[in-house]
Amino acid sequence: MDEFEIIRRHFLNTTIYRDDVRLGIGDDAAILRVPPGQELVISVDTLIAGVHFPEDLPAAAIGHRALAVNLSDLAAMGARPAWALLALSLPLADDEWLQKFARGFFALAERHQVALIGGNLARGPLNITVTVHGLLPSGQALVRSGAQPGDRIYVTGWLGDAAQGLQQLREHMQITEADNCVQRFCFPEPRIQAGLALRGIASAAIDISDGLVADLGHIVQASGVGAQLQVERLTLSPSLLHYKSREQALNLALAGGDDYELCFTVPEVRLPLLESQAHAFGCPVTHIGEITASKTLRCLKDDSTDWPLPFAGYRHF
Ligand code: ADP
Ligand code: MG
Repeated sequence: MDEFEIIRRHFLNTTIYRDDVRLGIGDDAAILRVPPGQELVISVDTLIAGVHFPEDLPAAAIGHRALAVNLSDLAAMGARPAWALLALSLPLADDEWLQKFARGFFALAERHQVALIGGNLARGPLNITVTVHGLLPSGQALVRSGAQPGDRIYVTGWLGDAAQGLQQLREHMQITEADNCVQRFCFPEPRIQAGLALRGIASAAIDISDGLVADLGHIVQASGVGAQLQVERLTLSPSLLHYKSREQALNLALAGGDDYELCFTVPEVRLPLLESQAHAFGCPVTHIGEITASKTLRCLKDDSTDWPLPFAGYRHF
């Protein structure tokens, strides 16, 4: 099977139709229409086997994750996903693997109406690079640099599950379909709805890929402010607490990574707006702290003493 046959069989998806795609897969480049009054929001992420996921992770999970981690970046900007490019390096053309990979990728793409408009295919170590494009009314992006002292800090959903799931995968290398933590590592749900609902409400936002402390650290740094986290306010899932003590679970929530939840800040004057939008988030949101003027990030226990911080987020270099 040559490259063109692989693309035709697995990546020419006709179930997602967008009339802003003038020319999709098949020419030297794609042609897209950005509607007037909208800004284009673009992001790219590479997933490398053995670095970002265990080599033998099921292909459907790899396909899902490759798109999900990118859509999560669009969610953090408040953008609505539109188009994706997929550059795939594969050690061999395994038809069954490709079919499962594409199924995982397109199941998520369909849910968010993301059209695959092109890509690349090469032989090499397993490595997937996805570029996503989203649309946003001009000037409405959620950026990292807008947090102000006095803003409240929130987080969506549940933290720590994915790190626990990854640990389980590494220990037994066997997927228990029913295990929520393993599922949350394999099939993270990008918080697109929450990102859209936060336009005009959040003063800053980021998606949590490297762990809450590390990623909130980026907001703090970009905004030139500080933060106080009330660690014991974090919402933990019953499945995480099934495996870990409360303290261990909180440490995973602070530093585990791979959650793809959103962390965002809201000025006090916009709290009523946040309340009024609560139904639109598609997940719970938890108030976990405050932005301060101090330029340091402090993690506190309920009794206001310092929570001893575990290791920081994942770093490649
Ligand atoms: P070129 O050599 O001009 O870069 P290619 O032969 O690499 O073009 O690709 C042919 C067409 O197939 C292009 O439209 C390209 O975007 C698309 N394509 C290649 N690989 C993929 C892929 N993995 N998924 C989706 N589209 C792909
Ligand atoms: Mg060409």
